[in-house]
Amino acid sequence: MLKIENLHAEVDGKKILNGLTLEVGAGEVHAIMGPNGAGKSTLAYTLGGRPGYEITEGSVTFDGQDLLDMEPHERAAAGLFLGFQYPVEIPGVSNVQFLREAANAQRKARGEEALTGGEFLKLAKEKAALLRMDMDMLKRPVNVGFSGGEKKRNEMVQMGILDPKFAILDETDSGLDIDALRTVGDGINSIMRDAGKGVLLITHYQRLLDYVKPDKVHILAKGRIVKTGGPELALELEREGYEEVV
Ligand code: ADP
Ligand code: MG
Ligand code: MG
Repeated sequence: MLKIENLHAEVDGKKILNGLTLEVGAGEVHAIMGPNGAGKSTLAYTLGGRPGYEITEGSVTFDGQDLLDMEPHERAAAGLFLGFQYPVEIPGVSNVQFLREAANAQRKARGEEALTGGEFLKLAKEKAALLRMDMDMLKRPVNVGFSGGEKKRNEMVQMGILDPKFAILDETDSGLDIDALRTVGDGINSIMRDAGKGVLLITHYQRLLDYVKPDKVHILAKGRIVKTGGPELALELEREGYEEVV
């Protein structure tokens, strides 16, 4: 589903990804762990096509297509979803408006009919309930005044509505309390994992992986994957720290 080969990328002339190779098969969940500054978010941004991230070497294919050749909106239309470490606030645009625009833009790109207001609301209600998000939050401006945990749950609602083939989630667990962590974990399982979709889960901590069981765990350090293992690798890291394990 996602095949990254020898990826080198730089930002502002600073080399950050340094020969990263990684393959995630259809329906697999892989976790990427790594110390601060390792390049985890840079990988997510690079795969999302964020401007300013220059690829100097390597290739990425997504579902058989050359991902690096596609515009960000084309990547989304092809079924790639990115959840960010710091979700943006959009004052003046309600959550419902935003989600509906996003859903219909994606349907249009896929050659599907736009959702009617009623259809969209039904879908939004269903996904909000799944993430235990109050419907009132759907009427508020996107992420404005939301707590860290609410932003993350909102992002999962968005993921549920967009129904991607593959999600890259960057520190979706940061800033979540225990209950929110479980809710978000359940959301990832029901929207993605149990539906046979692939996920690349970027996280600092092992605890999210108690809820969302990864098929593989990779350690990213200094811009490349330095170690790969099963779920036990995350537990080992939690116990011993990166310096011991890498
Ligand atoms: P992680 O998500 O693993 O903590 P990042 O991908 O955010 O790491 O950052 C990797 C490295 O790249 C860090 O050393 C960071 O300071 C650097 N970096 C990130 N963005 C920029 C930028 N715009 N200009 C220069 N350096 C950057
Ligand atoms: Mg970080
Ligand atoms: Mg990061």
